[in-house]
Amino acid sequence: MKKIFSIGIPLVVSGALLFGTLNSQAEAKNRFISIGTGGPTGVYFVVGNAVCRMIHREAAEGRKKGRKHGIRCSAPSTGGSNYNIGQIKEGELQFGVAQSDWQHHAYNGSSKWKGKKYNKLRAVFSVHPEPFQLIARKGSGIKSWNDLKGKVVNIGNPGSGQRGTMEILMKKKGTKLSDFKQATELTSSEQVGALCDGKVDAIAYTVGVPNGAIGQAIDGCGAHFVNLDSSVEKGLVNANPFYAFANIPAGVFYKGQKSDATTFGVMATFVSSADVDAKTVYEVVRAVFENLGSFKKLHPAFKNLDPKKMIKNGLSAPLHAGAIKYYKEKGWM
Ligand code: GLU
Repeated sequence: MKKIFSIGIPLVVSGALLFGTLNSQAEAKNRFISIGTGGPTGVYFVVGNAVCRMIHREAAEGRKKGRKHGIRCSAPSTGGSNYNIGQIKEGELQFGVAQSDWQHHAYNGSSKWKGKKYNKLRAVFSVHPEPFQLIARKGSGIKSWNDLKGKVVNIGNPGSGQRGTMEILMKKKGTKLSDFKQATELTSSEQVGALCDGKVDAIAYTVGVPNGAIGQAIDGCGAHFVNLDSSVEKGLVNANPFYAFANIPAGVFYKGQKSDATTFGVMATFVSSADVDAKTVYEVVRAVFENLGSFKKLHPAFKNLDPKKMIKNGLSAPLHAGAIKYYKEKGWM
């Protein structure tokens, strides 16, 4: 894939470091953390479980060497970005993966988060780029956005990042739900089966490239990308630092993809709360960055991860104090 996120995304760092003394070797007290991901066929699920794997790999409870941080980690499948941020806010999850647009809106109380501003949301790092992908069924006759009129369109489950981004795009395009023959709310792991079975005509998914579910749609049942590069998407990208144009080249990731796809996209980001203690966040961040080589091998979408970009790109909420501590130690800030 071509490098798609060349735009610089401004970084907001909270002024004061508010945490107290932080032992380099946090004491071994058992701590359970849960990381919100996305559907089981997505890349967020891999991100969350890769983070847990790095944490457990570092843990040396009962061993002579290693870190006695006492952290036990799980990364269940969830409804996606907005669900994760909402559950972090409720204190039910300590970490989550979320699209950069939803990190921005939740922290600033805009869009879906209007009136529900979550100013304790904290950025930890960003991961892979995620193009917003609109995919139409073979034989559906859908070549452009306007062809969605009168069709069965899966707008995604509430709580997913793609559902939110789809709603924003619909509003900008002047498209109403009633313009579709039917709008379904299938999850990311249900929608490809429905597309290939002819139950829905088009699906939307904001997901890293490559992704197995997208491959199943394109290579498995001849579905195709619908370009999203009109003046509407140009306006969105120009007005919002968390969006950038993305290109998925023909035949590189999906053999059955006949032509290049152009769309806009976001970054997948790893977020937490100011209420999660700095020691825990420090140990999580440390485990990821000390083992980044192994982390990157867990999914092809992680291939180009670069620490200097991960601590900046796509992050609009302030960085968590525990993350800042580690990034400063490394001389990255
Ligand atoms: N971007 C999607 C969401 O926020 C999830 C993508 C994935 O699971 O990899 O819901």
